[in-house]
Amino acid sequence: MKKAAASGHAAHPREDPAERSRIMRAVKSRDTAPELAVRRITHRMGFRFSLKRDDLPGKPDLALPKYRAAIFVHGCFWHGHRCRRGARVPKTNTGYWRAKVARNRSRDRRVAAELRARGWRVLAIYECQLRREGAVGKRIEKFLRAGPDRPDNR
Ligand SMILES: [Zn+2]
Repeated sequence: MKKAAASGHAAHPREDPAERSRIMRAVKSRDTAPELAVRRITHRMGFRFSLKRDDLPGKPDLALPKYRAAIFVHGCFWHGHRCRRGARVPKTNTGYWRAKVARNRSRDRRVAAELRARGWRVLAIYECQLRREGAVGKRIEKFLRAGPDRPDNR
């Protein structure tokens, strides 16, 4: 229950804490719809994974230690994907956005290199690709099956 504003700030409605935390969650972009889709697809195929392991470079969205495999789910705009959405540049603050996307891309490359240096394999799924979940599922399965996990391959 809100207290009546007695201090003369009534003209500025307080920010609702629930709304604020919703925004903060969105800013931290946890559990985005594309991430949930990739988890669902991967889980449905029977693979087990952990989420955002912070002992791995870049905190991969999905990590499958058995396969030494890391999967990242990227937003097309933020990660400069070569697709229509990825090519879009906002009309205001263009330089800022371009620089930001360029930084994200160079971080993606660095993270992938660090993971590979530790013997992990890396797969990136872009949100536009999730329009075809079946194709994404096949890609994930092929990627994982190609891994170092076969029992006769220790
Ligand atoms: Zn894309």
